[in-house]
Amino acid sequence: MIEERTQWNVAQLLKEPIGATRSFDVLATVLQEDADIQQATPLAGRIVMLRTSQGVLVEGDLDGAAVVECSRCLRPVTVPVSVALEEEFKPTVDVVRGAYLHVDEEDAALLIDEHHILDLTEVLRQAILLETPMQVLCRPDCAGFCQTCGQDLNQGPCDCLPADTDPRWDQLSALLEDIKL
Ligand SMILES: [Zn+2]
Ligand SMILES: [Zn+2]
Repeated sequence: MIEERTQWNVAQLLKEPIGATRSFDVLATVLQEDADIQQATPLAGRIVMLRTSQGVLVEGDLDGAAVVECSRCLRPVTVPVSVALEEEFKPTVDVVRGAYLHVDEEDAALLIDEHHILDLTEVLRQAILLETPMQVLCRPDCAGFCQTCGQDLNQGPCDCLPADTDPRWDQLSALLEDIKL
């Protein structure tokens, strides 16, 4: 049984020589309840952390599922989501001396904090949002809603008249009016 987690203390790994590795089984739920996309299942997979000259390179393939709305009828649709992780995290504090380091890293999500915590939450959150398809249909022939009354046409036809006539007919009727005159 793997516990859900997105944070690791990498103090020990940072003290080791370049090339040292750790691997972890990961189970991670990173999207907030109120996000546009919901996670149907946690991301699961195995990651490897590699000590580099700059910090810690995290690599791994994680798979999960997300729930998005059908583009036509807004029904929830579950889609598989795969994340290929390859990010280098950099320490903000020297693990041996405890002094703050000058870090040349603009993305705050890739910083290891002063307690040597490497946090994958934000990186995984951005990856899921990027990898989740947004144009999804609940089924290929989803009928969607009636434009007039809003009925879900997958449940059956509504009583609305057929949609307004094609505007090209207006021109034709106008022409016919002219002929009559
Ligand atoms: Zn649909
Ligand atoms: Zn209708």
